[in-house]
Formats: sequence, C-alpha cells, structure tokens
Amino acid sequence: MTQEILDKINRFTRREFTADELYTFSVILCDNEIDRDNERFSDGALEQLKTLFVGKTGIFDHDASTSNQNARIFATELVTDEQRRTKTGEPYRYLKASAYMVRTEENKNLIAEIDGGIKKEVSISCAAAKRCCSVCGCDKSLQSCSHIKGRSYNGAKCHIVLDDITDAYEWSFVAVPAQVNAGVTKRFTDESTAKSAGGTADENERRLRREIRRLAFVSGGKNAAAAAELMARGMNGAQLAGLMKSFERLVGHGKTEVQLSTETEAEQPSQYKL
Ligand SMILES: [Zn+2]
Repeated sequence: MTQEILDKINRFTRREFTADELYTFSVILCDNEIDRDNERFSDGALEQLKTLFVGKTGIFDHDASTSNQNARIFATELVTDEQRRTKTGEPYRYLKASAYMVRTEENKNLIAEIDGGIKKEVSISCAAAKRCCSVCGCDKSLQSCSHIKGRSYNGAKCHIVLDDITDAYEWSFVAVPAQVNAGVTKRFTDESTAKSAGGTADENERRLRREIRRLAFVSGGKNAAAAAELMARGMNGAQLAGLMKSFERLVGHGKTEVQLSTETEAEQPSQYKL
C-alpha cells in the first residue's frame, strides 16, 4: 500500500490507520453494457457515479449480524476497454472502485473470501432522474412512448438509457460461486427525482422514504428494500414516520448501522430491485 493510498483512506477514518490495519480491494460497480433488464448507464451517468460513489459504504450479504463487516470506497476510476464492444457497438466502459476495510478478527474470513474471488457480485443502488428510450429518446420517467424495452425496432433492441444520476446510495457484495460469471446488478429509482417540487413537507417525506428504504435494506437486503419502497409509495408524512419507527425497532436502533457511514441523506429514493 502506497502512502498516497493510505492518505486517501485516512481522509475517511476517525483516526489514522497504518497499512497493516487495512485491507484494500477493487470491485466493478457498474458499466455501460445493456443489462439483463434491458437498461444501461449513459457515459454521463457513469461519470456522475464515479464522483458520487466515493466515500460510500458497502455491506456484505445484507446480513445484520455482520454489521461490522463494512467496506468503504476511497477511490473510483472509469476504465475503457477498447478491445471489447458493448451491444450498442461502443467501447466497453466500467466504473471500478477501490475499497478498504479495517482488519478485525471478525472479518478475517470475509477477507479470505474476497481474496479467493468468492465474493464477486456487486449490487449498487442509485437514483436516476432520466430514463430515456433508446429508440425515440423520450424520457420515460416523464412521459411514455410506444416502444417496449427488449423488443426490436428496425433491428435495434429497445432499451432504457439511465442518465442524470442524482444520488448514489449503498453498494453490496453478494456471495456467488467464483465460477459463475460475475454480473453487475443494480437498483435505481423508478421515479424522477427531478420533477418533485422540493417543498419542505416534500423533502421531509423524501427523507422518511429514504430512511425506510435504507433500514429495510439493512434488515433484509434488496428485496426487503424494494418491498418497503412499494409500501411507502402511497403514504403521507405521518404514516411514513410510523413505518420508519417500525423499521427502527426491527433493525434494533443503532446496532446494525453501517458503521463507517457519515453521509447525510439527500434525495428521496424510490427503489426498484432487479
Ligand atoms: Zn420510445
């Protein structure tokens, strides 16, 4: 570990750590390929994610009992592979992140698993304000068009281009057997955050929805987060506050907090799992 890397990491820590106390590794967060849900990130979106994911914590297997097994991203980099083309014929581009963990007795096995290439699949969570149709360019978060993703129009498969990333939430590691081709999965918001009015009550509800989703994610992973999101969708402020309290009780207040997290909440998430 170079001094430069150590300095970068120590910007995020409460006290200075030495190289021996830290474990670093890289993950691919996302790329510009059309994924299994017929969606892809635009180049601009990847640039935004590159900035937004710095400092974000990742969790492993969404398991509350391993809450101290967190990692934090301390650097990101966009890498272009000119040899490889995406389905749309562009050079393959991916967002690579460098993350660190503080070595503890509890995460010894986890570190061995990462070293051994067992934990490969990364799932990210972010908010995309624009979801454009690849055929006609219309922003599907604002209006609808007749094109259906996955279908071909004049020989080109319709897909959604995710753009205008307003926020990046957590990322997580999912254990998959090493031989399974590690795919990148993502979750993102289903609603445009750009069209919200931004009034005080509005902001409060957004904050509550985000907190509910986060607590659900901590307690039960991405499926729970998606379910909580749906549940919270039609609720007013008071109902949201009640739901958040229930989730706080479920998670056990403070106990399963992502310990490295210092980020403050910004945008409302309307999460959607894939
Ligand atoms: Zn269209």
